[in-house]
Amino acid sequence: MKKRIVLLPGDGIGKEVINSAQDVLNAIAEEFNHSFTFETHEIGGAAIDLYGTPLPETTVDACKQADAVLLGAVGGPKWDNNPSHLRPERGLLGIRKALDLFANLRPIKGFKNLLHASPLKEEVVAGSDLLIVRELTGGIYFGTPSERRDNGQTVVDTLAYTRKEIERIVDKAFQAAQGRSGHLTSVDKANVLESSKMWREIVEEKKAQYPDVVVEHVLVDAAAMKLITNPTKFDVIVTENMFGDILSDEASVLTGSLGMLASASLSEDGVGLYEPVHGSAPDIAGKGIANPSAMILSAALMLRYSFQLNDEATLIEDAVQSVLDSGFHTADLHIPEGRQVGTEEMTRLIVDYI
Ligand code: ATP
Ligand code: MG
Repeated sequence: MKKRIVLLPGDGIGKEVINSAQDVLNAIAEEFNHSFTFETHEIGGAAIDLYGTPLPETTVDACKQADAVLLGAVGGPKWDNNPSHLRPERGLLGIRKALDLFANLRPIKGFKNLLHASPLKEEVVAGSDLLIVRELTGGIYFGTPSERRDNGQTVVDTLAYTRKEIERIVDKAFQAAQGRSGHLTSVDKANVLESSKMWREIVEEKKAQYPDVVVEHVLVDAAAMKLITNPTKFDVIVTENMFGDILSDEASVLTGSLGMLASASLSEDGVGLYEPVHGSAPDIAGKGIANPSAMILSAALMLRYSFQLNDEATLIEDAVQSVLDSGFHTADLHIPEGRQVGTEEMTRLIVDYI
């Protein structure tokens, strides 16, 4: 398979971990006889420094023409006092909009050997392996009008969704569930919100198209509790923008480490963008100690969701787990009696396994 991948290293440790992802993809290409070509472009602070804008046109054009995009991270103290149109984060928001990325997928997995790092009991998180599918472009964050009225005595936010917006995210979630254990939990607040009632109706309508998926509806308050008390009960969770924002941060503590969390942002039929959940980590940038796992696991998601290369994706995930099983870990993780390594050595170990 021939694919063109755009790399957007961005800033801070983004520049370091993106190299790790490229090394791993090269190993996969060699092992499975694929041809991946890479093109690197600027975004965020790096783009501000070079071109005076966080999202140059050349970057947008390259992404639109690519088969998929890998992004490191943007931001850093150097640009913190910039005016708002010259903030690195604008680059990220801009590219998400330009590619019409409406579905955010975050897999949360309790990696063996790291379970002790979770604030929850090991026996509760052991075996947890779930995927949160969050709607990214609608809902209360984008509703109009959002305003203060009556001399500031009344505030208004609006939660709006179109049928089409709900249908496309629900479809993505069903498809993701088909590729996993075939269990979908739709999270809403249908006992109170009109938008949730329509959400639930649409999930019920769509069920017939995906007879191999078992569907369950859970109210968001109950879901928040079950994520902590019984996380292994979940496979795929689909929910609207704000519920997804809250639940995905909540679920991320199951693993106890930011350096392991990957994400995918998908559009309808177009380009997908894959990035680690963590930021540019200015405190450790340039030291060669960043954990490349989240970025490498994001590359695995790219293979699975943009290229349908499931075996290749699984091999990468197995490689990361196997390296952790052997006791190797970066400074952000701790494995009792393990050995601490830097970004390059961690990457080499994963490449060697592949
Ligand atoms: P942003 O606003 O861009 O999301 P942030 O301030 O929320 O950034 P991060 O940049 O993700 O946070 O960093 C949070 C903490 O986690 C920092 O101490 C950072 O060093 C650490 N960290 C984040 N990612 C990694 C990684 N891949 N490896 C090691 N440590 C990391
Ligand atoms: Mg953050």
